[in-house]
Amino acid sequence: MSLTTRFAPSPTGPLHLGHAYSALLAWDMARAAEGQFLLRIEDIDQSRSRPEWEAHIYDDLHWLGLRWPMPAMRQSDRLPRYRAALRRLSDMGLTYPCRCRRGDIETAAGAPQEGVPQFGPDGRIYPGTCRSRTMAEAGPQDVIRLDMAKATAALPLRDFVETGPLHPGRHALERDRLIETVGDIVLVRRGMGGSYHLSVVVDDADQRITHVIRGADLFEATQIHVVLQGLLELPTPVYHHHRLIRDTAGKRLAKRDDARAIARYRDEGATPEDIRAMVDLAG
Ligand code: GLU
Repeated sequence: MSLTTRFAPSPTGPLHLGHAYSALLAWDMARAAEGQFLLRIEDIDQSRSRPEWEAHIYDDLHWLGLRWPMPAMRQSDRLPRYRAALRRLSDMGLTYPCRCRRGDIETAAGAPQEGVPQFGPDGRIYPGTCRSRTMAEAGPQDVIRLDMAKATAALPLRDFVETGPLHPGRHALERDRLIETVGDIVLVRRGMGGSYHLSVVVDDADQRITHVIRGADLFEATQIHVVLQGLLELPTPVYHHHRLIRDTAGKRLAKRDDARAIARYRDEGATPEDIRAMVDLAG
């Protein structure tokens, strides 16, 4: 099996050194294996995505020396695919509409209790207020959630293989852990065709990604993706979560850190080799 990987930025701001590291690492791993490097534009959140940032992504990646088949996959073109995946999960009886707003969830969650996790890889762990609602009751203002208890009882849980430096090895998913520390994740956000989790799973399968190379901040989300792959009968790729590039104060870089934007270094005369050196990747 030849290696196919991808870089999947959201066009919501400038690419910074952390993105450069992720993209270059994926590119280098694809080249070393004589595999394929694909680009995917994760613009599912149309309220934050901008065409000018997409243009910047192409420009910065080209400048770094990366090439990929065009046109790149763009999530906003793929809403029917996400709808079909949601329908399949709904037909299995695993989804429900939720009308809770952030404040409702916080109130229902109550005071923090010792030893009970409050936040998971999909944000605050949902207290289950709307869990008994049916899809027939879904309204335009609702989000759609996955009932994690039902989902993890529906099928045997898969393992996944991680090759990154922080958690290398085979990881087994545990039902109780998924229910307690992840909970009923959102599959379709308000006003969006799908959530990050649903779209990334469908897209990785459609792009025949064999190796997902991305930041360690997404390691905990991987268990959600592996559950969805099992339910949707999609292959589970190998995962490689890399270290995060941090600023001098040790904080991870965010889109708003324009100071670390690749464009800024370019303007100041840096070369692609300088960028590689800054993120500790040999040329
Ligand atoms: N679009 C995500 C981001 O910009 C990356 C998702 C992934 O690699 O799975 O953080």
